[in-house]
Amino acid sequence: MTPAALTATIDLDAIAHNVDVLRTASGADVLAVVKADAYGHGALPVARAALAAGAAELGVAHITEALTLRRGGIDAHLTAWLHTPGADFDAAISHDIDIALSSLRQLDAVIAAAKRRSRTATVTVKVDTGLNRSGVAPDEWSDFAESLAKARADGAVTVRAIMCHLARGDEPEHPLNSEQAARLDEAAADLRRLGAGPEVIHIANSPAALTRPDLARDLVRPGIAMYGRTPVPERGDFGLIPAMALTAQVALVKKLAAGQGVSYGHTFVAPADTTIAVLPAGYADGVPRLLSGRFHVAIDGRLFPGVGRICMDQLVIDLGPDGAGVTEGDTAELFGTGRSGGPTAKDWADTIGTIDYEIVSGIGARAVRRYV
Ligand code: PLP
Repeated sequence: MTPAALTATIDLDAIAHNVDVLRTASGADVLAVVKADAYGHGALPVARAALAAGAAELGVAHITEALTLRRGGIDAHLTAWLHTPGADFDAAISHDIDIALSSLRQLDAVIAAAKRRSRTATVTVKVDTGLNRSGVAPDEWSDFAESLAKARADGAVTVRAIMCHLARGDEPEHPLNSEQAARLDEAAADLRRLGAGPEVIHIANSPAALTRPDLARDLVRPGIAMYGRTPVPERGDFGLIPAMALTAQVALVKKLAAGQGVSYGHTFVAPADTTIAVLPAGYADGVPRLLSGRFHVAIDGRLFPGVGRICMDQLVIDLGPDGAGVTEGDTAELFGTGRSGGPTAKDWADTIGTIDYEIVSGIGARAVRRYV
C-alpha cells in the first residue's frame, strides 16, 4: 500500500492496554471519553477498541457525536454532556443516548422531548461542584432536584447517573478534589431522598483515575490517559502507551547554499551549504506554527531540526550538508511514542507551553488515520 503524505497511526492495542491500566489503578469500571473524535484518534475505532478491552460505556460532549457513534453501530451506554438550546434531544431520546443535564432549562427541554416521543428519557445529572463550567449551579440545585424528582415520578425521565468534573484533578492532593467529591455525594443523597436516586456516580478524569482511587465511585471517566498520555507527568507514565504517531513522507529534497533563507520571512538563513527536505505537514494539519524552528523529526532513528516558518501545508527540515542519505518518499516521524528517543507530542506541547491534549486532538483530517 502506498503510504499517505501524512499519516496518524493509531495503535488500538495501546488503547486496550491503557483501558486496563485505568481499571486496575482506579478499581472501577471505565466510561471511555471519546469526544472530539476520540481526541483526534477516531471515535468509532477507538470506541470499539475500548469496549472490546472492557470499557463499560462511553461519553462525548455533543449529541451529534453520540449520534455518529450510534450510526456506526455502537450500542453501548453512551452519555452526551454539552448542549446548546438547539440540541436535538428528540434524536438523543430516540437513540437511547443518556443526556447529561446542566440546568433546569435543559431538564424542561428534555421533558418536552420525552413527551413528544412518548418515551422516557435517560438522564445523568451533571452537578457544578466547583469547576464553575457546566453542571447545575448551586443556586439552581433545589429547584432542579425537585423538578427532576417530579419528572421521574411522571415517567418522563430515568435518572441513570450523577457526575461532576474536577477542576484540579491534575493536582492529586489538592483539597478541592475531595471537596468536589463530597459535594457530589451530597447531591446524590438529595436525589435519593426525593426518590430520584441515581444508579451510578462518576467523578474521576484521567489524573484522578490514576492517582485517587478513593474518588472513583462506580465509574471513572478518563480521556487522555486512555490515549496513552500521562496527565500527571511528575508521577510517572503509569505504564501507559501513547496511541498516536504522526508521520509524513518526504516530499522534496534539495540543496541550499550558505546565506539562503528558508520559508516565509527567511527566519532561518543557512550558515553553510546544506540539504533541506520538505514535509507535507503544516499548521492546517495541527503542527503549531509556534513550533517553527523549535522541533526535530526522526528519520530512520536520526533527528533532524525543523528550520524556517511552519506553513499551512508544509514544513522544512535541515538534513545537513550531505543530506544524510534521506530521499524523497522516506518516512519522517513528527511525533511518536518517544521510546526510541524520537520526538513526542509532549515535546511539542512543552515547547509551545500547552498540553498534549491540544496537540493530539488538533491533528487535522488530512492526516490519514491508519489503525494497527
Ligand atoms: N469528563 C468530562 C466531563 C470532560 O469534559 C473530560 C475532558 O475534558 C473528561 C471527563 C476526560 O478528561 P481527561 O482527558 O483529563 O481524562
